[in-house]
Amino acid sequence: MKKKIRVLIAKPGLDGHDRGALIISQALRDYGMEVIYTGLRQTPEQIVASAIQEDVDAIGMSCLSGAHNELFPEVVNGLKGQGAEEIIVIGGGVIPWEDIPFLEKNGVQKIFTPGTPSIETAKYIEKAVYQRDGINLDVDNEIVKKVDHIGIAVESLDESLPFYLDTLHLKLEGIEEVKSESVKIAFLNAGNIRIELLEPTNESSSIHSFIQKRGVGIHHVALGVENIEKRIQQLKENGISMIHDVPKPGAGGAEIAFMHPKSTQGVLYELCDKSSKERI
Ligand code: ZN
Repeated sequence: MKKKIRVLIAKPGLDGHDRGALIISQALRDYGMEVIYTGLRQTPEQIVASAIQEDVDAIGMSCLSGAHNELFPEVVNGLKGQGAEEIIVIGGGVIPWEDIPFLEKNGVQKIFTPGTPSIETAKYIEKAVYQRDGINLDVDNEIVKKVDHIGIAVESLDESLPFYLDTLHLKLEGIEEVKSESVKIAFLNAGNIRIELLEPTNESSSIHSFIQKRGVGIHHVALGVENIEKRIQQLKENGISMIHDVPKPGAGGAEIAFMHPKSTQGVLYELCDKSSKERI
């Protein structure tokens, strides 16, 4: 049976707003954790004392006052001073990006920024606690294993391939026609990733419309994943809209699904899962 994880949610310093802290407390409870909330305006010493007294696995601190660079490390050092450094410390609140490396170097395991879905914070704490305790829990959150390939829209493979083969000296791995997508694809081995050249075979091809609208060039980035159905689910839970809710067969025996560029900062990302093929 999984152990019940205990978390202290703490508000160090002088700021008087605890809406965020209350929201995260409730989210962690909903996830099945025991949560103790310190209340507002706690000193680092008080937080360390409560954490030890309550025998928690982790402390989540929220700071909106701007004093996080002093307060968070003081809590980390206070725990060390009491021999309680096994307690995991994470932080959130209004924290500028540039302070994150400093805090993480000073013993705060992870900083969550305001946009982070609460469920991700809960999963992170769970994984960190089980890792610390040497328990191999299958909390499988990792989405991207690698960049699998970059897709490039071309008018014609015949015209484009000489550049890739003769000038860049890349190796052609194969050419495949995907009739359902009206596209002919050439795979080039570029060392750690592949380049996929996509030529539309007729006007119904989405590559054809892409070239009409944006011209030839980079079309998509394919992220290598495993367990693609689960990844689609996970992304949707995080508010990403998918072009394909169900994976479809792609070139090379892969299962693929595209995320909508509206929810990915303008980049067309493909999820590309070849693991089922490799397993066979
Ligand atoms: Zn692709």
